[in-house]
Amino acid sequence: ELTNLHKVYGRGQAATHALKGVDLFVGHGEFVAVTGRSGSGKSTLLHIMGLLDAPTRGEFRIQGTNMLQLSDADEARFRLAECGYVFQEFSLLPGMTVLENVYIPALGLSRCNGFKKRAIDLLHTVGLGHRLKHDPTELSGGEQQRAAIARALINDPKILFADEPTASLDLASARVVLDLFKRLNEDLGLTIVMVTHEPDDA
Ligand code: ADP
Repeated sequence: ELTNLHKVYGRGQAATHALKGVDLFVGHGEFVAVTGRSGSGKSTLLHIMGLLDAPTRGEFRIQGTNMLQLSDADEARFRLAECGYVFQEFSLLPGMTVLENVYIPALGLSRCNGFKKRAIDLLHTVGLGHRLKHDPTELSGGEQQRAAIARALINDPKILFADEPTASLDLASARVVLDLFKRLNEDLGLTIVMVTHEPDDA
């Protein structure tokens, strides 16, 4: 729940008022698309909601907790345990298998015993059960993004934040990724906030 949220980058003459009094409520299990022209503040909003950046002023609560008063350690724990992130770039680590890429975020969480099996199950869910031992560089763009989605889900997040997740994909791969999001939202009840400049995707 965001209330009267502002974000100003820079100062004085170089200041950019990227968010001007945003009010937004996202309910549990919703799939929300944030749309708007380039430069309208979509990524800024998503980064603040995902605790990757701080607002200049305003309120931000998740299930009643004031997210702007968390310690750095609690913020980090929240990002790791409760949030999944998918960006335009897939940012998979070369030199590690697809499977290893997917379970890396689980290594810091004790609640994720059995993380390898969970990673394998997730890779099957995203249609990559036949690519476990591959290097990410051997995958197509659409496959890499699906691996990145599996990685985002490994810690069973409450919220998935996606910033232009289909922007570097061809139309067919983009369709597959959006269908996957829809399935995760409808079947698993995953809350998703997705930034897109594509009205069709929204
Ligand atoms: P969108 O995602 O809708 O394209 P952004 O949130 O990336 O918009 O940017 C909103 C505005 O804030 C733009 O004018 C952009 O130039 C500015 N902006 C974004 N990030 C920074 C930054 N790190 N420093 C300064 N200005 C920024």
